[in-house]
Order: sequence, then C-alpha cells, then structure tokens
Amino acid sequence: MPENRIERLCIEKGMKMTEQRRIIARVLSAANDHPDVEEVYRRASKLDPKISIATVYRTVRLFEEANIVERHDFGNGRSRYEEATDEHHDHLIDIQSGKVIEFQNAEIEDLQEKIAKKHGMKLVGHRLELYGVPLDSKK
Ligand SMILES: [Zn+2]
Repeated sequence: MPENRIERLCIEKGMKMTEQRRIIARVLSAANDHPDVEEVYRRASKLDPKISIATVYRTVRLFEEANIVERHDFGNGRSRYEEATDEHHDHLIDIQSGKVIEFQNAEIEDLQEKIAKKHGMKLVGHRLELYGVPLDSKK
C-alpha cells in the first residue's frame, strides 16, 4: 500500500518504487518548506543512512519529470521542490533566511487575467515570486 500521495502517483504512472525512492517520496510528502536537494538528502539519510545524494538528485528529477513534484528557483540558483498540487499558490521568499511563505490573492489573480486579456491572451498559468526581508531587519 502506498503511504502517501507522491508514492501513489508514482505507482499510478508505472514507476518502479524501490525502498529508497519510497523514502524520498515520504520525505517530500512530509515537507512543507520547499527543501532543496541537499535538505531532502539530509532528511532521507536519517531514514536510510545508505542513501546517496546522487540517488536523491536522480529521484527528485524523476518525480519532477513526471509532474509529481514542482521545482522552483527562488533566486539563489538552488532548485527547491514541493509536491505538485492542483491548488494554486504564489510564494514570498525571505532572502535572509530562505523561508518561503505561500499565499493566494484574488486581486492579483484577477489583475493577471486582465493584463493577459488586454494583450489579447488567455492566461493558462503564471509564476509569481516576491522577495523580501523582515520589516524589523537591519538591512
Ligand atoms: Zn509552494
């Protein structure tokens, strides 16, 4: 029995689920902080010390190609991942800590539709990333 949504989708797509792939699926499923590959590796290592970063890298890419996880580039050149869902959200990134806040805003969504329409386009998707520092930071 698949333990989580990622694993279930992998099975549905006919992917062979090795024990290490299952561990990586579990780690990504449990994460809500958009970890990078190294962080996924750190967490997976706790569940299986024999897992290699190359395996984590390959597996995450495999999940990405199957549209099961989504890759983000939040500006520092390091890819970060989250489980792909149907529910849309945008991201606000704290550039000091790397913390990612997810948000939804109906006005922004409407505005984007309007902009596309004004240019004779029907919007089919978008990515919106906001970068900031905490208001009380010295920078
Ligand atoms: Zn997100």
